[in-house]
Amino acid sequence: MVKSKISDNVNSIELSGIRKFYNKVVKVEGAISLTLGQPDFPVPDGIKEAMIKAINEDKTVYTSNAGIVELRQEISNFLNNQDISYDRDEICITVGGSEGLMDVFAAFINPGDKVLIPTPAYPAYESCVKLLGGEIINYDLNKEDFSIDFESLKNIINQEKPKLLVLSYPSNPTGAVLSKEARDKLYEIVKAEDIIVITDEMYSCLSFEENYYSIAQFKDIKNKVIVVNGFSKMFSMTGLRIGYVCAANEYMDSIIKIHQYNVSCAPSIVQYGVLHGLRNSMKDVENMKAQFALRRDYAYKRLIELGFQVELPKGAFYIFPSIKKFASNSEEFCDKLLQQAKVAVVPGSAFGEGGEGYIRISYAYSEKQLEEAFDRIEKILNK
Ligand code: PLP
Repeated sequence: MVKSKISDNVNSIELSGIRKFYNKVVKVEGAISLTLGQPDFPVPDGIKEAMIKAINEDKTVYTSNAGIVELRQEISNFLNNQDISYDRDEICITVGGSEGLMDVFAAFINPGDKVLIPTPAYPAYESCVKLLGGEIINYDLNKEDFSIDFESLKNIINQEKPKLLVLSYPSNPTGAVLSKEARDKLYEIVKAEDIIVITDEMYSCLSFEENYYSIAQFKDIKNKVIVVNGFSKMFSMTGLRIGYVCAANEYMDSIIKIHQYNVSCAPSIVQYGVLHGLRNSMKDVENMKAQFALRRDYAYKRLIELGFQVELPKGAFYIFPSIKKFASNSEEFCDKLLQQAKVAVVPGSAFGEGGEGYIRISYAYSEKQLEEAFDRIEKILNK
């Protein structure tokens, strides 16, 4: 009865599989959870102090819809260092990347519009598109390294003529990054086709490669590329809810309409905190990244020793081993790990069809927790 009152679009989606699994974990006493995408570092001290200062100075009122101009300028400078150029009026500060994603999808999608989404991928893309009545078309990733299968992508674009293409690098859940070669191939496609790219670069600050590549680095297709990014991971502030969207002026007005009626503006004091962070806390980000690189190497080594087939992640803080040697159904495998080893990881199926046969392990946890978790997994796999 209640369900029939709820909109068809809402009825068509489920709560995130990541959260669902996390909720199972809290019920198992003594379980170690490697499920969440939350860095285990505190917010850098300077940012905390800047937020306290903002409160004491009563900077607790609405900001302009797009966010304080100093922060937008600082983001513009920051992106410039990655060869991505948006001026401050082409940037809107949002309530996390999550709000940014929804704003952008809402700005473009009419019911029935086709949206290309990779599989496996962060589940919010599909849910946002479904909520807006868009049609999801998945494109495959190569099984070995989760790079784009360009043959298949080109065919789908030719046949389906999608309106939007979602890119997600560095990837949650796979840890893959965009290579220079893949970026250049994408550029040729985007230039030639009538398509708009939404590139979610939430983990851009956590790429372990020497150079960073993004489709947003090509100025001549700027009117076809929208960037979503944020500070949840960069400054370890997932609960403070701040992100941003970059788009050419011709789109920004429409995106801001949605942003305005949704949230008016991002939290003011956090905007001041992030402003301080971009100016003064980049060393903290580098230190955190160095820690993640060590943990990534440790997780990779343990998984290889245990006999998993696994690709060395190049970004973010997730590793995505295949479980095919041990089981076929990722949810059953994760249930078994939880019940028998008391270790929680996320079934690959939570990230779409392409994730079946894999598990996502977050290594945003201390070395001690990682070591204990892998020791426990080792024991039950040896049985
Ligand atoms: N995009 C990706 C790929 C993510 O993994 C996340 C969070 O985990 C987000 C976007 C949303 O991040 P937030 O809303 O915390 O900024």
